[in-house]
Amino acid sequence: MLKPKQSLGQNFLQDPNTIRNIVDAVGGDDSVAVIEIGPGTGALTGELIKRYADFRVVEIDKRAVEILQEKYPTLNIIHTDVLKLDWLKLSEEIGKPLVILGNLPYYITSQILFSVYAAKSVVKRGVFMMQLEVADRLIAERRTKAYGILAVQTQLIAYPKKLFKVSPNVFFPRPEVWSAVVGLDFKPEAQDFPPNLTDVIRTAFNQRRKTLRNSLSKFGKLPDEVASKRAEELSPQEFITLATQLLIRVEDS
Ligand code: SAM
Repeated sequence: MLKPKQSLGQNFLQDPNTIRNIVDAVGGDDSVAVIEIGPGTGALTGELIKRYADFRVVEIDKRAVEILQEKYPTLNIIHTDVLKLDWLKLSEEIGKPLVILGNLPYYITSQILFSVYAAKSVVKRGVFMMQLEVADRLIAERRTKAYGILAVQTQLIAYPKKLFKVSPNVFFPRPEVWSAVVGLDFKPEAQDFPPNLTDVIRTAFNQRRKTLRNSLSKFGKLPDEVASKRAEELSPQEFITLATQLLIRVEDS
């Protein structure tokens, strides 16, 4: 029905079981608005419309939008680049918190995740299909190779859970890699982070082999107990403590 565009990460789901499992994992209710990223021609959308009264989709491809309009005349379609969407404004306009899901376009998975994390105050839950390798980075524990910026940022704002793996065979066209569906329950208490937190995390992991004394030298003198450690040894919570200590030191000096 639609010639898949690789440049838009279009791998369409073909398998009713996988579709049902993803939709079952959404778990929203009437108190939230459910938003699907990248509906394509509607593999998940058809099921979601039946379950959620307050439901919208965000799609960039005009061809897909036209097909969806024809198939589901009452569907609320936001025809835009999801990376340009203001989640805070959308939630405010609707007057409800959001549950966001999607079989994500893999070329921008991390960017989408970070944009959703930035709107954490209005997001209750996320259910996202992504490459298996990226899913493993979201749930990685410290002192492992997969533990990095994505793990720390994700685990600070949510409880991530790998729900199930998905074979390349259930997509058209068939991708090269396995996928996984991840559920993210957002932490309501994770709101006021120190303003330098993201910079501290990114700078530390950009030179992950160095001790923090060296990788974070631009932030000033580090507390002795962490100076000789490496980024992968700090838990997400310890990054908050460190960022807060560095802020106080800057203010003191
Ligand atoms: N939900 C459908 C399915 O499961 O069969 C399609 C999933 S496909 C992996 C990704 C979808 O995201 C495509 O429909 C693609 O057009 C859309 N997409 C790609 N880049 C986008 C962007 N920047 N903003 C919004 N949608 C995008």
